[in-house]
Amino acid sequence: MANQKMLGFVHTAQKMPDKRSAADRRQDFAEIYARFSDERANEQANRCSQCGVPFCQVHCPVSNNIPDWLKLTAEGRLEEAYEVSQATNNFPEICGRICPQDRLCEGNCVIEQSTHGAVTIGSVEKYINDTAWENGWVKPRKPARELGLSVGVIGAGPAGLAAAEELRAKGYEVHVYDRYDRMGGLLVYGIPGFKLEKDVVARRVQRLADAGVIFHSNFEVGRDASLAELRERHVTILIATGVYQARDIKAPGSGLKNIVPALEYLTTSNKVGLGDRMDAYEDGSLNAAGKKVVVLGGGDTAMDCVRTAIRQGATSVKCLYRRDRKNMPGSQREVAHAEEEGVEFVWQAAPEAFTGNDVVTGVRAVRIHLGVADATGRQTPQVIEGSDFTEPADLVIKALGFEPEDLPGMFGSPDLTVTRWGTLLVDHRTKMTSLDGVFAAGDIVRGASLVVWAIRDGRDAADAMHAYAQTVGAPKLAVAAE
Ligand SMILES: Cc1cc2nc3c(=O)[nH]c(=O)nc-3n(C[C@H](O)[C@H](O)[C@H](O)COP(=O)(O)OP(=O)(O)OC[C@H]3O[C@@H](n4cnc5c(N)ncnc54)[C@H](O)[C@@H]3O)c2cc1C
Ligand code: SF4
Repeated sequence: MANQKMLGFVHTAQKMPDKRSAADRRQDFAEIYARFSDERANEQANRCSQCGVPFCQVHCPVSNNIPDWLKLTAEGRLEEAYEVSQATNNFPEICGRICPQDRLCEGNCVIEQSTHGAVTIGSVEKYINDTAWENGWVKPRKPARELGLSVGVIGAGPAGLAAAEELRAKGYEVHVYDRYDRMGGLLVYGIPGFKLEKDVVARRVQRLADAGVIFHSNFEVGRDASLAELRERHVTILIATGVYQARDIKAPGSGLKNIVPALEYLTTSNKVGLGDRMDAYEDGSLNAAGKKVVVLGGGDTAMDCVRTAIRQGATSVKCLYRRDRKNMPGSQREVAHAEEEGVEFVWQAAPEAFTGNDVVTGVRAVRIHLGVADATGRQTPQVIEGSDFTEPADLVIKALGFEPEDLPGMFGSPDLTVTRWGTLLVDHRTKMTSLDGVFAAGDIVRGASLVVWAIRDGRDAADAMHAYAQTVGAPKLAVAAE
């Protein structure tokens, strides 16, 4: 009741004049909220049944020791919980925020299976690690000794950063090259700030810099150096460049103005959120304010676009997807959030053409019937004749997925072998590509995937690069120096 009074949650008839300043009220709220978080984390941690087979851990890509850190949290031993949590994950509070837990740890919690609702593992992971940051427990991982060997990492997304941290902790001089001005890859320019605050990413990057990782921003491999040149500089190299080639739609009218790719839209929005001045946002071409927005696609990128458009003040936001709700690739949790926020989903609808003269005014679409399953088990979409309709639009965002860029061509390395999907071909035991001493990790190997898988790959690649440098690379250097 005391808390309710402080927060002003009292019946009007009993309401007393509140003489505190706004700053005091905010401070009170922050304290009460912090206590609430403590209690919630503790309550959730206590719900863990400590089952014999930790399915949550089995389904966590970095094999987080979830039952142990839940138990420590329930006992109020947060610093120890932090130690256990950070032992397996380089960016635990980031995963706690943006992992699709319903498909991973929480979806496999035995309490969820018994229909009592999963322990909210991601929120507890976020809570433990945010508390660690607040209390100064998170320190740069400086090496005990320097190995005198230099490694190169191309790409500062979660895969590259996780590998860089692990390699630096082992004693390597680590150089990270990224073509963007800020480090973090899609953590900073893809995923919107309302899901992942950018200062949470920046403090991680700073932690790496404090450990001695050397960052080269605005450095595009292929333009500023070839892969061969980097191989001369470093004993081993990691390629962690992600996938950035947007899938496009070829349809009448697709060249009209205000039909834009998702990543361009989200990157601009993120840059504006970071305080950059962006002309395309100012002139309205990448700003949804006051517009009828149609997003094409059904993955997580599409969900980020619809939710960003709502926040920018769109008058309406519709999402067109050719399959139904249960077959969409995006997280069901994200869809639920989007619906709560006012997004309308137009299921089983596929775009056929765009209307308008110079600027788009609508999307002409057809209704889809889901037919028999194909060889992959997915029902084949079939157009329903005569079902076309037009969805009015002032801004159309294409969120149809991503493919790899032509890395062998860009890097001037035709001998860098790719799969038939354009991803880098690696030996899955060692993560080494077709080039000696050149490893790869993250989306450029898996295709568009998840942050937590990129972290896992980065950590595995770091182990393999260390083994390579010690057994092959370093002896070669020593011989060359003689
Ligand atoms: C809009 C969007 C939302 C997403 N939301 C989620 C989510 O909520 N949860 C989740 O788990 N996953 C999400 N993902 C997926 C996740 O972001 C990726 O799987 C993950 O970031 C892949 O990490 P990575 O390190 O392999 O690549 P990236 O994060 O893509 O990083 C690659 C880096 O390489 C750099 N680079 C590329 N080419 C070069 C070059 N030639 N020279 C130098 N540098 C180069 C890029 O600038 C970039 O910084 C989302 C993806 C998108 C697009
Ligand atoms: S890293 Fe992701 S999958 Fe693993 S425990 Fe954390 S939220 Fe769950």
